[in-house]
Parts: sequence; C-alpha cells; structure tokens
Amino acid sequence: MFDNLSDKLDKALHNLKGHGKITEINVAETMKEVRRALLDADVNFKIAKEFTNTVREKALGQNVLTNLKPGQLMVKIVKDELTELMGGDAAELNLTGNPSVILMSGLQGSGKTTFSGKLANFLLKKKTKKPLLVACDVYRPAAIDQLHIVGEQIGVEVYSDRGNTNPVAIAKDGIKKAKELGCNVVIIDTAGRLAVDEQMMDEISNIHKAIEPQETLFVVDSMTGQDAVNTAKAFNDVLNFDGVILTKLDGDTRGGAAISIKSVVNKPIKFIGTGEKMEAIDVFYPSRMADRILGMGDVVSLVERAQEQFDEEQARKIQKKIAKNRFGFDDFLSQIHQIKKMGNMKDLMGMIPGMGKALKGIEIDDDAFKHIEAMIYSMTPQERSNPSMLNSSRKKRIATGSGRSIQDVNQLLKQFDQMSKMMKMMQGSKGKQMMQMMQN
Ligand code: GDP
Repeated sequence: MFDNLSDKLDKALHNLKGHGKITEINVAETMKEVRRALLDADVNFKIAKEFTNTVREKALGQNVLTNLKPGQLMVKIVKDELTELMGGDAAELNLTGNPSVILMSGLQGSGKTTFSGKLANFLLKKKTKKPLLVACDVYRPAAIDQLHIVGEQIGVEVYSDRGNTNPVAIAKDGIKKAKELGCNVVIIDTAGRLAVDEQMMDEISNIHKAIEPQETLFVVDSMTGQDAVNTAKAFNDVLNFDGVILTKLDGDTRGGAAISIKSVVNKPIKFIGTGEKMEAIDVFYPSRMADRILGMGDVVSLVERAQEQFDEEQARKIQKKIAKNRFGFDDFLSQIHQIKKMGNMKDLMGMIPGMGKALKGIEIDDDAFKHIEAMIYSMTPQERSNPSMLNSSRKKRIATGSGRSIQDVNQLLKQFDQMSKMMKMMQGSKGKQMMQMMQN
C-alpha cells in the first residue's frame, strides 16, 4: 500500500534530518519535494498545494516553541495534516432505524458486491446485527448470482427477484422481506455501469428517493486515482451520499484517492477494502492511514485483526495440548489457517513499523504457507498427531507426495520442533519469567 509515496515522502523529510534547525530555505525545499511526491501519487493539484502551504506555515510557526529536531517536527506536522486532510476522526455508520437501510452505489467493477458481503459479515460479527443482502441489479443475472454466492459464504440471507425489472420495487420488497425475517440491517447492492451515465444516475437516484436509506455509501476503486475523485463528485451531486468506501487498497495504489477524496466531496471515508476475501475490510482511521503513508506501520490495526480472528475456545484446546505434549501438525495447520484469514502477507507485514520500507521490491508470495500445507496434507492422521513416528521412509513418502525435497520435510520438522519447545516454555514458569522481563 502506498509504497512509492511513502518512499518519496521519507526521502523528502529525511533531507531535513541533517539540519540543526528549520529555516525558510530548507522548509521550502522540503515542501517542494513533498508536493512532488503527492502529485506523483495522483493527489489533486489544488489539495497538494494547500497541503504544503499549511505544513510550511505550521513548521515555521512552531519552530521556536519545541525541542523536537527539525526532521521529527516536520514528520509530526505532516502526519497531523495528513490525518486532518483524510477526515480527522473515524466516521461511524448510521445504524438507526429498524431495519437500518444501507444503499450501495458506485461504478461496475468498483467492488460494490464484494463490499456488500464484507459489510454484512462485519456487522454479523457484532452479534447484535442480523443483516439481509438485497440484489437490485436488474441487468446482469451474474451480479445476482454473485451476491447469492457471497451470502452463502458468510451465512447471510439474500433477497432477489429475478423476473422483476424494476429496481425500486425490488429494493422496497427487500426491506419488507427484512422485516418478515427479523433482520435489523438491509444492505442494497445496486447496478453500476462502466462509466457515469444519466440512466444509472436516474435509477440510483430513484431508489434513493423511494427508500430513504439511513446510509448511502459510495464505493470506489482506489487504483483509479483522480478518476475516483471525479466519479465521487458526480455521484455526490446526485445522491449527497454519507460516506465513501475505498476498495483495492491492497494493490499497487498510489494513494491519491485516499488523500484527496474527503476534501473534494466533504464526505468521510468510512471503510477500506484490502483484498478479495470477506474478512478484508477495515474501518478507516485517518491517523492510522497517515502512519501507513509515512511508513510508520499500523500496529493497532494489526492487533485488532489478530483479535478478530482469535478463537478463544480453540486457543484453550491448543494450550491443553501443549501442556500434555500433544501439540501436533493438525494444530499447526489450524494456526496457519488463522493467520491466513488475517489478510495477505505483504499487507500484514507492512503494518509492522519499518517493515514496509524493508520489504520494498521484495516479492512475498501471498500463499507463503502453501508448501508447508502440502507437506502436512501428505501426512497420515497418525503422523500428524505423533510427528515422532516420522522415520526416513515416511519422510520420503511425504516429500514425494507434496512435491518437495527431503530437506524441506526435515526443515519443517525442525521448525515444528522448535515451535513446540518454545510454546511449552511460554506456558511454564520460564514463560512467566520471560513475560515479567518483557514488562519491566
Ligand atoms: P461490482 O461490480 O462493483 O459489484 O464489483 P465486484 O464486487 O464484483 O468486484 C470487482 C472485482 O474486484 C472482483 O474481482 C473482486 O474480487 C475485486 N475486489 C473487490 N474488492 C476488492 C479489494 O478490496 N481488493 C482486491 N484486490 N480486489 C477486490
């Protein structure tokens, strides 16, 4: 996410680090670089200019009042201003109303259907919410199928009416259906086009007027940069929407849309999409995003994702197994699956401060565990629960079965052994000592 922009901002701000104090001249030079970095990232020209002007004024004004070094001071000011530009505080969904109705809008391919599913899944996890998905695309039967597949995946009911060509009627019927089913949130997925056109705008506007949703969300592909901002303007003129959803931030996004969109339409970004999986959704926190843009990582979101995937009952089971020396490859496999659910590897590692920069240009296989999984799947259930029985002929069979070498199998066994020992240690008195040491 934002590799290029982070890199350029880092270089621009780094130049100040060698200087003893902030002067008009070195601030002007730094701001020129910052502005260039923003423009390269496809940030709106006017916004980039205003941004650097504000930062310059603040830097010169605060110079005498602080004992921070110039480099640190500038990073802090840039971070604060970026946060402000992206909306300041996180913006919540309005879920009043029973059911609360959420209308999704956006171009075709922006990620509306995927996001509708992600949002339903996100709300479902809150326990108090029972969502219903409604398919209002009357032009593409495949879009209706797609929503049904998504619904099945996450265990959420989907309402559609294939014979009906009137999206307003479908939306209204969907809300009725939600009441019947006792659903307290209705998420309405609508038809998009490849570009903004009058018919699409009329249609979404008619649905909007007829159902008066509590939340109208505009979904946009962040990879489209300035186009994203222009599309947002067009939709906002017609719908006066409540929030923006920025999708595909896991890709090679330049960052322009994330930085510019709030100040152009004056609507907050509420969520971001960071992958194709149903779990790849994050609440948008401007200050965490600013940290990520400045290459400072985002530990808070990383911990939150881990907590979301954390299965307490399973953790207790595994703890018991470790205590009894019964931790096996099946447990190892389920741990891997939990990690995979947290998101793509490069994205996760980029959330660790400093790692984003270190990983630049390095390809990380999204399925980094696939060889390990293949080897474990080639083991018999007995071998998985009792790895000590793996003699050389068994290892050979596993290597052949998984298409790996004997060395790979040995390496896996060694890693497994080390991990089991470490877990055992963490549980025992040594672990407590270690924890105490870490806390001191
Ligand atoms: P719609 O036409 O607006 O409903 O768009 P879809 O939901 O069908 O999404 C279009 C494509 O983008 C699909 O292949 C999705 O899997 C993909 N997609 C959606 N959101 C994301 C995301 O956050 N990250 C990535 N990498 N792909 C996404």
